Amino acid sequence: MNVRRVSIVLLMAAALVPGCFCPIPASAQSTKVVSPVAPRREQVEAVIKEAYEKYKNDTNGKNADYIPYLAKVDSKLFGIAIVTTDNQVVTVGDVTYSFSIQSISKVYSMALAMEEQGPAKVLEKIGSEPTGRPFNSPNAVVDMSTHSGNPFVNAGAIATVSLISGSTADEKWNKILDFYSKAAGEKLVLIDEVYKSEAATNTGNKALSYLLAKYDRIYADPFESVDVYTKQCSVGVNATQLARMGATLANNGVNPATGERVIKAEDIPHILSTMMEAGLYDGSGTWAWNVGLPAKSGVGGGIVAIAPGKGAIAVFAPPLDEAGNSVKAQEVIRYVADKLNYNIFSPSSVGFK
Ligand code: GLU
Repeated sequence: MNVRRVSIVLLMAAALVPGCFCPIPASAQSTKVVSPVAPRREQVEAVIKEAYEKYKNDTNGKNADYIPYLAKVDSKLFGIAIVTTDNQVVTVGDVTYSFSIQSISKVYSMALAMEEQGPAKVLEKIGSEPTGRPFNSPNAVVDMSTHSGNPFVNAGAIATVSLISGSTADEKWNKILDFYSKAAGEKLVLIDEVYKSEAATNTGNKALSYLLAKYDRIYADPFESVDVYTKQCSVGVNATQLARMGATLANNGVNPATGERVIKAEDIPHILSTMMEAGLYDGSGTWAWNVGLPAKSGVGGGIVAIAPGKGAIAVFAPPLDEAGNSVKAQEVIRYVADKLNYNIFSPSSVGFK
């Protein structure tokens, strides 16, 4: 018997003895967690390919143009990515193109504010009510008793940024970027051209920040908060990174790729419930009715939807509907959620017949 065979026999014998120290090489000690609910890979692959083919030629909607850079993005770009809680990654289409995260950033700044202040403070200082108005509405700031509405409309998001600690704007910004990167499991970077384009045209957001100041509902310098907010919206992500950021929420706050805990488990229900109520702006009610998944859209053309415990799907396709939500992304996620039985309001999504 040669040395290799002897060691294999010894390993097998050791493994059979209860309590025995088994010198299994590190590479063989798989700690891979198998999710009891994440869908099978073949199933996901088939469904997202079907969705891609079904919707790729849909030309409805129009790129956002109030931020000049966004009007120039190729409106044919189309990518779909799913990351499951057991870190299976399934993609199709333009999934390496880096687009601006825009409003989807608001989810992770809300999470960071809760990490620092706790959920009760965030609820008290920002609120969590749908506004029933467009995402940048000054009327909502005037009319709502909380003024800031919720962390996902622009006013509430700027107020959320103002809650994040840091002695300088740069310190806050770096903390935010670092937090997003942990959720993505990769270093994310600012798309400078988007930032410049948006910073040159964001008078509406500046007006919102001063309106919040009138009601004492902003907690740092208003224009400085708008600037950090503008940077966070200009962070570049691709569909795969965005799906991983979503999967971190689906996986109860732990990034399924890195194993790092990014968000406290007790904060997740507050984040997902806010996504359900306000993630697609004034399209949120219809979204809940049709799809039943917490999601967040951005005017850059991305939407990420979360199937708690199972995974996340991110779709990127720039043309938007009237409410500011990507047309193709909504269609794809609705199709996939239906086929994979993801709707959280359906008892069959957790095994009921
Ligand atoms: N940066 C954008 C704005 O402030 C975000 C809007 C969005 O994605 O919905 O208008």
